Amino acid sequence: KNTRVSMLGLGAMGSVMAAAVIEAGYQTVVWNRTPGKADGLAARGAVAAGSVREAVAADVVIACLYDAASVRETLDPVVEELSGRTLINVTTTSPDQAREIAAWAAGHGIAYLDGGIMAVPAMIGQPGSSILYSGSAAVFEQHRPLLDLWGESVYFGDDAGLASLYDLALLSGMYVMFAGFMHGAAMVAPAGVSAGAFAERASAWIAAMTGSLGGLAAVIDGGDYTIAGQQSLEFSSLDDIVAASAAQGISTEVIDVVQNLIQRQIDAGHGEEAFPRIIESIKHPV
Ligand code: NDP
Repeated sequence: KNTRVSMLGLGAMGSVMAAAVIEAGYQTVVWNRTPGKADGLAARGAVAAGSVREAVAADVVIACLYDAASVRETLDPVVEELSGRTLINVTTTSPDQAREIAAWAAGHGIAYLDGGIMAVPAMIGQPGSSILYSGSAAVFEQHRPLLDLWGESVYFGDDAGLASLYDLALLSGMYVMFAGFMHGAAMVAPAGVSAGAFAERASAWIAAMTGSLGGLAAVIDGGDYTIAGQQSLEFSSLDDIVAASAAQGISTEVIDVVQNLIQRQIDAGHGEEAFPRIIESIKHPV
């Protein structure tokens, strides 16, 4: 608690993260590009810094800005002040941008940890919130109590790009799942079923299906798609779904994606092998 923590960026996310740090009793310095956003936090005990230079004179500097460019724009001018200090950047970046910021930090003697926030502001510090980290293991270990204020802290390794990579991979799963839900909702809509009614059924079904991810992964990691007891690719034809969707007069794009991944494996002669083999279609683009 004697750690002096500085929060740069008091937007929707940064302000909630800063509030958790103040609440936990840390000496907290806050800074935001546009003045005024620090007022509420100052009233709760934070010190509102008048400049970035003043703000980075802390033991740990947390950046929760907009994108990679805003991080560099904010920190480049004060790089000598940051040298020898610790920077934890939870601003969303691509894996390569995270690696670039890590290289910039290393070049200036700044200990760097990159973070990817898997939560919306209302979830910070609540169950279900997790923040993914990569970069300096020493920073992760040393500041674990601080990081744990925001949610479950997960560390992936010293390649600073890993947290972002994992973050984007998880979002891929989320978006495709959401699109699948939308497709189902569009299918039943002409039958007079509201999206809300469909969501009730779909939530239970999709939640039950997540139980099979580990089994699919075991087949993939085992590397043997001929293993017994698995649903085959030929058995996994989505023709009925495509036909019923077309009959409802809706687009089949979402389902076509999956159907194509299956078909490419069947065409390559693997129809009797297990469904998880569609990952080979993804790993080897045409
Ligand atoms: P907001 O748009 O609410 O806030 C953005 C913050 O970045 C503001 O403090 C803004 O300052 C600052 N900023 C933008 N550009 C610059 C710049 N060039 N120089 C200095 N400061 C700048 O975004 P959030 O707080 O919601 O998001 C912050 C980060 O957290 C983003 O990277 C976002 O992707 C990530 N995130 C957000 C989630 C969410 O649900 N909100 C979920 C997961 C990640 P100013 O007030 O002056 O404009």
